[in-house]
Amino acid sequence: MARRKYVVGNWKMNGLTGAIGEAQAIFAAAADHDGVDVAICPPFTLIGAMVAAAPGSAVGGQDCHNAASGAFTGSVAAPMLVDAGASLVIVGHSERREGYSESDVDVRAKAQAALGAGLSVILCVGEPRAVREAGGAIEYVLAQVAGSVPDDFDAARLAIAYEPIWAIGTGLVPTVGDVEAMHGAIRAALAGRFGAAAGEMRILYGGSVNGDNAAELLGAGDVDGALVGGASLTAAKFVPIVAAAAGL
Ligand code: PEP
Repeated sequence: MARRKYVVGNWKMNGLTGAIGEAQAIFAAAADHDGVDVAICPPFTLIGAMVAAAPGSAVGGQDCHNAASGAFTGSVAAPMLVDAGASLVIVGHSERREGYSESDVDVRAKAQAALGAGLSVILCVGEPRAVREAGGAIEYVLAQVAGSVPDDFDAARLAIAYEPIWAIGTGLVPTVGDVEAMHGAIRAALAGRFGAAAGEMRILYGGSVNGDNAAELLGAGDVDGALVGGASLTAAKFVPIVAAAAGL
């Protein structure tokens, strides 16, 4: 089946209340592009305000705990994201895997908790530079997929984001050939494990996507959209990426 393009902004730890206007502008422009699903994942503090300012828009968290509640100071549970109006969550971002020592087992538990709470999930994988240079990128990423993707879920609610760590926030991007090889390998691994349902799972590329390179990267084989960091913070930078996805 044809998969709709999916463009997701990850605002990371950026954005105060004054930034809600940018989100409104992004969602308003996205409404002109029928064929593309657009979502923004702001800091937790902005989820409620963003949903209120852009009703019906896809707003998500950037992480969640694997427990539904409890003594976990500073953490946010998946049902809390739902309660705030979120419809999706990113799990396993490399900044969480590296900065907070999250393992594949942790990421899998978070994904399971999120799916169980009714959220859609964007599950991130990606290799460090040294692994890419040593020629082990595909093997490394497929091990992450095997270890962090849960066993049983509604396929349309889980997307994989392939984000080479060395491409995040650096301005560096892999060649289209390398992106296609990785996405094809991920698709084949998902098909081997989930059969036909793998055809419903979207595989996004993330890492220094911008208005200039989006058409080429999103047009690559088995690339169903983009997870975008820096260029998602303003409508001026994000909308051209949405438009590029719509033009494919
Ligand atoms: C990200 O962190 O998910 C990301 C893709 O960042 P950037 O677009 O800034 O490289």
